[in-house]
Amino acid sequence: MSDFGGAVKKSSNYDLAVIGVPFDEKSSYLRGAAKGPAAIREASTEAMINPCTELGVDLALDTVLKDLGDISIKGGFFRLASRLEEKITEIINAKAVPFVLGGDHSISYPVVKAFAKKIKPLDILHFDAHPDMYDEYNGDLYSHACPFARILEEGLARHIVQVGIRAANPAQRKKAEKFGVKWIEMKDLLEKTSLEFSNPLYISFDVDALDPAFAPGVSHCEPGGLSTRQVINMIHNLNAEIVGMDVVEVNPYKDISGITASAAVKVTMEVMGKVVQIGSSQ
Ligand code: MN
Ligand code: MN
Repeated sequence: MSDFGGAVKKSSNYDLAVIGVPFDEKSSYLRGAAKGPAAIREASTEAMINPCTELGVDLALDTVLKDLGDISIKGGFFRLASRLEEKITEIINAKAVPFVLGGDHSISYPVVKAFAKKIKPLDILHFDAHPDMYDEYNGDLYSHACPFARILEEGLARHIVQVGIRAANPAQRKKAEKFGVKWIEMKDLLEKTSLEFSNPLYISFDVDALDPAFAPGVSHCEPGGLSTRQVINMIHNLNAEIVGMDVVEVNPYKDISGITASAAVKVTMEVMGKVVQIGSSQ
C-alpha cells in the first residue's frame, strides 16, 4: 500500500498522519477523484521514490509518519463530514499534522472546520485554478465548487490566500474583495512570489492549480497554470507553522502515466519536509 518512499511506519505515536478520503459525490462534472487516495499512495511507493525531501529532511528517519488508511464514506456527505471532522480533531489532539488525500474539494470544508475549532486564528493557503466560492452550485451548498464560500461565511479562517486563480467569475471576484481574500492570479504571478502568514497555516492543494501539462489528471482542465516547480518553490519559501494539508482532485481516469498523482506526492512530501524542518528549528 502506501509508503511515501518507505517513510510510513506502523507505530502508535506519530508526528505526521496520512488519511485518505475516497469521496467524489460532490463533483459537479466528472467522477474519479474518489480514486485519488489510491493513486497517490501507488505513486509514492519506495520502489520508485526515496523518502528524502529537497530541504534535506529524511521522512523515514527525522519524523514518524503513519498512514491511518481511508475514512469510510458510507452514508453520504454529512456523515462523512462528521466522521472526518472527528478524525482530524483526534489527529490535532495527538499533536500531529494531518495530510488528507482527497477526494474532491468538498472535503476541505469539514477538515477546516475541525481546525478552526482547535486553532484560532487560522490562516489558509489555497492553491487552485478556481476560487471554489460559489454560493451554491447546481443547487448544492456543499458542491466541490463551494467549500470556500462556507469557510468564509462561518469565519473559519483569518487570512486566506488563493494562488493559481484563472477561472473566476465576477461574483466570486466580488466575494473575495468583500471577505478580504487575497488572490494571486496567474495573470499577475511574479517570478518570485513570497507568501506571508502570521498565524498557523492550513494548506489546501487542488492539483488543478497546476498547469494541465504537469497535472492532466483532473476533472476541470484549465490551461495556463502553475508549474510543479513554482508550487514547490513557494512551499520552500514559506515561513509559517504548517498545521495540516489536503491534496484534492486527483482524477486517475484522466491521468497519464500517473503524472498527476506523482505531482501530488511530490508537493505533499515537500510540505511534510517543511513541517519537519520548521518543527526542528523551534
Ligand atoms: Mn478546488
Ligand atoms: Mn480547481
